[in-house]
Amino acid sequence: NGGGSGAGSLDRIQVLVRVRPLSDKEIARGEPAEWECINDTTIMFRSTFPDRPTAPTAYTFDRVFHSECSTKEVYQEGVKEVALSVVGGINSSVFAYGQTSSGKTFTMTGVTECTVADIYDYINKHEERAFVLKFSAIEIYNEVVRDLLSAENTPLRLWDDAEVIRRSFSAFLTSSDVMLMFANQFSVVYSTERHLRGESYGGYIKGLEPPQGTYFCLRRAQRRTGETFLNEKSSRSHQILKLTVESSAREFLGKDKSTTLVASVNFVDLAGSERASQAMSAGTRLKEGCHINKSLLSLGTVIRKLSMGSNVHVPYRDSKLTRILQPSLGGNARTAIICTLSPATSHIEQSRNTLFFGSCAK
Ligand code: ADP
Ligand code: MG
Repeated sequence: NGGGSGAGSLDRIQVLVRVRPLSDKEIARGEPAEWECINDTTIMFRSTFPDRPTAPTAYTFDRVFHSECSTKEVYQEGVKEVALSVVGGINSSVFAYGQTSSGKTFTMTGVTECTVADIYDYINKHEERAFVLKFSAIEIYNEVVRDLLSAENTPLRLWDDAEVIRRSFSAFLTSSDVMLMFANQFSVVYSTERHLRGESYGGYIKGLEPPQGTYFCLRRAQRRTGETFLNEKSSRSHQILKLTVESSAREFLGKDKSTTLVASVNFVDLAGSERASQAMSAGTRLKEGCHINKSLLSLGTVIRKLSMGSNVHVPYRDSKLTRILQPSLGGNARTAIICTLSPATSHIEQSRNTLFFGSCAK
């Protein structure tokens, strides 16, 4: 497991499971709920059919949420501590992993809004600091990155050559920014950034937007994925919503950059896991054009390596998703993976695969 190094009592990687309620269709088909959360950390397969193996299989995670749990509970008890580390200058990522229709988008929409509300709350309670809150949204489909906040649909480029970055973006970056990118081999993607709330320091424009404005922004980005893409595409694309919080002690405003805290929290609504898990269980090799989601497989590998400790090479460079998220995955960054599960009989295999993925992350 993550070893619990770094701040706080929790492991750097939190693995949570959320079971959604049976859908009307599943109920109409007479499918029973196959999974039971027997306590706060254990989920068990309930063999409801006489021809199924009778030995119940139990899986243990940091936290499991049964189908009656609200998104608020999932947020409060599983996500909050990870996501809110952003106000203290620590990067984090929150993932939803699971097959299509298991509740990824439902869960991510909810926990993102809860986080925004708490960030506003925190800002309002800390008058001694000045804050800037920014928001951006991208999607990755077939290893092509697109900006969900821009009207143009041209693919975004990932920049990772420090010299090229310096030449192209010299107006925005300090040389220490570039050095940091270079040292850490970060890939940088320049997507549209909305200032949700800003105070005039360091050249930022003053302007306050209530949380409602932020929700509007979030929903619009989310709707865009739903509208523009066929079902097929939306289940195969990853959506990343990024909130960036910058803050500075008021007495140092405009004087000393070193007191500025900057961090981002990424909310990642992953592509449906169905193809990736089939590929993994069949031991199929990753081939070009065979509809296996490279970013999803590579994320699995990266998270597994990260959970193994600090002396392991982590192959961030293998996919767009892991390149973009690198600053929010390694180092002292915090991660929460919400494994979403359908309780239905028709989804047993996929649910097992999802739990297997979650187990590998610990
Ligand atoms: P995914 O994004 O994984 O494909 P969705 O989030 O779209 O799945 O969920 C599929 C359907 O199930 C949606 O209609 C959603 O509203 C519903 N749903 C998912 N999770 C829950 C939940 N915990 N409680 C109630 N309805 C849910
Ligand atoms: Mg979805």
